[in-house]
Amino acid sequence: MATTLEKGVLVDLTRCIGCRGCQVACKSWNECAARPTRLDGDFTNPKELNAECYTNVGFVEMEHEAMLERWFVKNQCMHCKDPACVSACPVGAFHKTSEGAVDYDAERCIGCRYCMVACPFNVPKYEWGSTSPTIRKCNFCADRLATGRPPACVKSCPTRSMFFGSIDEVTNEAERRLRENPGKYINHIYGRHEAGGTQWMYISPIPFEQLGFRTDVPPVKLPTLTWNMLGSIPVKAGAIVVGLSLIAAFRNRGASEHSQGKEK
Ligand code: SF4
Ligand code: SF4
Ligand code: SF4
Repeated sequence: MATTLEKGVLVDLTRCIGCRGCQVACKSWNECAARPTRLDGDFTNPKELNAECYTNVGFVEMEHEAMLERWFVKNQCMHCKDPACVSACPVGAFHKTSEGAVDYDAERCIGCRYCMVACPFNVPKYEWGSTSPTIRKCNFCADRLATGRPPACVKSCPTRSMFFGSIDEVTNEAERRLRENPGKYINHIYGRHEAGGTQWMYISPIPFEQLGFRTDVPPVKLPTLTWNMLGSIPVKAGAIVVGLSLIAAFRNRGASEHSQGKEK
């Protein structure tokens, strides 16, 4: 059950102007490396989240009454209240903090990628180009939340597209905006029920499926479904986990010795 300690964010899609300030702030705060990108066809750049990009802004164009309309959609981890990624990770690399963030310890990651399979929103990304790859994703700026500060992306937004507060405040604010602005929004708070509820929620002027949101995510807690699905994988999962854990331990020891060497 949600407590007042738990935080959330309401993304109001009528306010976003697509400036990507949130994208830049996220990269900066999390010290993610810059990668060459290119525009091909639309302005969404990069096209999808990746191991160095925990949030992006989707540009959605459509014709409406003979006019070209453009909508902007910020994407990141939804921070599910009952996260499938946490339940799927066999070594406990993922965890939910008391502020509601789904954080992770990359050093514990063994690279099995069960979290990628389990996530209904296609969020965790693998460091494919690294010699010691782990999983990466938005962690709700857990370090900032722990010290009472809003996420870097929220703080950077010039149009206040994101409302940050306790999960109760966020839910109440979403309901208030819908109630007090008839016709401005569709009657759907995305994330309120999807996947059993998420800490990040959205309100929108047009149906979410038109903006590329998954609308087939069931309104139930997903961890049970996750384990049913993983349990059906016809391999000796336990043996694989032990093997991958040994590889990860060896890899992390190497990385640790390397960083100690650098400090000397
Ligand atoms: S959106 Fe995916 S990665 Fe984020 S908490 Fe939910 S299951 Fe985990
Ligand atoms: S909450 Fe933090 S990690 Fe997540 S998208 Fe915003 S700035 Fe990036
Ligand atoms: S900073 Fe705010 S207005 Fe700019 S792209 Fe991000 S959410 Fe939209």
